[in-house]
Amino acid sequence: MSKKITIAIDGYSSTGKSTVAKQLAAELGYVYVDTGAMYRAVTLYLMRKMLVSDTHFDEEAILRHLPFINISFVFNEEVGYGEVHLNNENVEKEIRLMEVSQQVSKVAAVPDVRKMLVKIQQEIGKNKAVVMDGRDIGTVVFPDADLKLFMTASTEKRAERRYDELKGRGDEVKYEDVLANVKERDYLDTTREDSPLVKAEDAIEIDNSDMNLEEQFEKVLKLAKDKIEE
Ligand code: C5P
Repeated sequence: MSKKITIAIDGYSSTGKSTVAKQLAAELGYVYVDTGAMYRAVTLYLMRKMLVSDTHFDEEAILRHLPFINISFVFNEEVGYGEVHLNNENVEKEIRLMEVSQQVSKVAAVPDVRKMLVKIQQEIGKNKAVVMDGRDIGTVVFPDADLKLFMTASTEKRAERRYDELKGRGDEVKYEDVLANVKERDYLDTTREDSPLVKAEDAIEIDNSDMNLEEQFEKVLKLAKDKIEE
């Protein structure tokens, strides 16, 4: 039997991390974990409780509510990966709305939120054979990951991709708003005090601005296979 490894994929928003992570996990028979979905689900809970909005951010109340938030993944055979559940409700679609994207990076900067989610992530990945994508996987969650990838692409390219994705789903969004959100999240994610988005020293950087999905997948799959066979 071949060796099982841990694969950490970090990078800016809308760099296609989750697409390549899902492809890799499916090909290798590994578990895929979308950690951004976890931060989004916590954010959705707090928005529903009116604790987080454009004009309101009640950190004390957020901390009081954390014990009542349960985040889990339930495997959906139809899509081939685990979908995120908030207190046993499938919120996979709702967490992708622009409204949630606009609040999530503020919530993700709260150290206790991070502590709670990192613990779950480490538990899910403790037996390896996992592909996890996020912002701090190679630096904080699994600093000893066997393979670390850091995905980048130009801001405009990322905003375009995100816009097409949201439009494709029928969401009414403006390109300028998507671009502004991508820039805002880049700023908040890279400048926050706790676990800011940085490339791990031993991560391999992949700029996919001019790569199509097949090229990207081929490249990443080769890196993974080389590691497995090492
Ligand atoms: O990956 P995605 O864009 O869905 O992540 C949403 C947000 O969650 C990010 O902009 C970031 O603020 C936060 N996040 C994080 N750490 C992770 C994954 C996501 O802070 N490991």
